[in-house]
Amino acid sequence: MRSGEMMDVLITGGTLVDGTGAPPRRADVLLRDGRVARAGEGSRAGHVIDASGLVVAPGFVDLHSHADFTLAEQPDAEACVRQGVTTVVTGNCGLSTFPAPAFGVDLDSFAATVAAARPAINVAPLVGHGALRAAVLGQEQRQATAEELAEMRRLLAVAAEQGVYGLTTGLIYAPGSFADTAEIEALATEATLHGLLYATHMRDEGDRLIEAVQEAIGVARASGARLQISHLKAMGPANHGKVAAALEMLDTAAADGLDVACDVYPYTASSTTLTSRLPGWALDGGNQALLERLADPEARERILDGMRPAVGRTFLPEGVIIATLGPGRFADRVGDSIAAVAKDLDVEPSEAVLEVLAAHQASVGIVNHAMAEQDVDLVLRHPSAAVASDGWVMRAPGEGHPHPRSFGTFARVLGRYTRERGLLGLAESVRKMTSLPASRIAMAERGTIVPGQVADVVVFDPERVGDLATYADPWQYAAGMRDVFVAGQAVLRDGEITGARPGRVLRRTAG
Ligand SMILES: [Zn+2]
Repeated sequence: MRSGEMMDVLITGGTLVDGTGAPPRRADVLLRDGRVARAGEGSRAGHVIDASGLVVAPGFVDLHSHADFTLAEQPDAEACVRQGVTTVVTGNCGLSTFPAPAFGVDLDSFAATVAAARPAINVAPLVGHGALRAAVLGQEQRQATAEELAEMRRLLAVAAEQGVYGLTTGLIYAPGSFADTAEIEALATEATLHGLLYATHMRDEGDRLIEAVQEAIGVARASGARLQISHLKAMGPANHGKVAAALEMLDTAAADGLDVACDVYPYTASSTTLTSRLPGWALDGGNQALLERLADPEARERILDGMRPAVGRTFLPEGVIIATLGPGRFADRVGDSIAAVAKDLDVEPSEAVLEVLAAHQASVGIVNHAMAEQDVDLVLRHPSAAVASDGWVMRAPGEGHPHPRSFGTFARVLGRYTRERGLLGLAESVRKMTSLPASRIAMAERGTIVPGQVADVVVFDPERVGDLATYADPWQYAAGMRDVFVAGQAVLRDGEITGARPGRVLRRTAG
């Protein structure tokens, strides 16, 4: 994008944390024509911004976002901008808006939709295996035939040629969960041929976490793929502590020459769909088929049998909070736990889950409190772990009790985990939000402040930066971010949204 008439911006007097992990240092940063022109000695030119007492850093790259589903409706992306996020990496967990050939949707049409909405921030798209599988096999639980697998590979190759940065899987979500390891290996092999990252929401994050990490590393070994383990965590008290073994497995694989890494969000609750509490086969055929099973006493009993062993281990009824649901019988229970609903209905917790699903078209979002703080700390400190939100674009105020991570992730790491608890140094925290995630998707022009880089730059107050969104009151923007530049244009200036919308859909260029 040419922006020749744009005025130079000189950010003076700040502490530069350049994204590489190098120690913070005093340096002036000159932005010219959308690029970093200089980082070092000052030169009075153009518009001067005083950053005394503030930190100047690269714009944050959110490696694990679901913003592709909401950005076109909320292109100002204020929840992201106020955390310093300038690029969202989308299409995660196997879920992406494309390809959907039946509706004529591919990366080009998705990009056109986003471009028409003129977002404030950039989008770096990944393509989801769930979308590939749905396009070819629908929601059926069965093995793909050789022809179907070839068609999935072809659609993936098209997406790669159009410029996606990676392939993702969501192996707990239908229809991705219906794929065997061989299918994933074949697609990861295709992804690798095109130089793409392979990112996975693994098959299990609870009782079978270790087996799931083994599967992911096995896919990387078989395909040669660069592997990203998404939101690494251990769910349920019976599994707390297992992330240590998972990280060791990643270290061993890396020592063997595999390119493996992970990411993490700084919360002890996850956010997902209530259907994720069900045995996988219950989703065969999609939500409509599930609703039919829930209406059939025999099938319903089998689903309950599949759920009961998890209660108290990986499914804590008091920790599963209803976050979002449409109109229906339980519409007034948003913010309440499944345990509370079960008590009022006088049924067991698993039965309460099915009641809520049946009353709301099987479309219910939850926040799930099931992780240990020690585990979050351990993953966050691992050198290969990037900070990533797993959130989406939201505008306050809003309805329901969504997970606060969409508003707070990056500010929370800088505030709570870096300044308050000292778990990470500032340079390391910033590296985990900038050059590390950019390197995972092989995005060369962003993630550091060195001359020639695209001028995605943030200026924040290290004494004040922090998250305000809580589980009880999530609709709160983060604090402490003063200025945010996207390609040299201010989208946040002196703490105010400017209305500028310089974001665009970024595409991987082969090579
Ligand atoms: Zn996920």
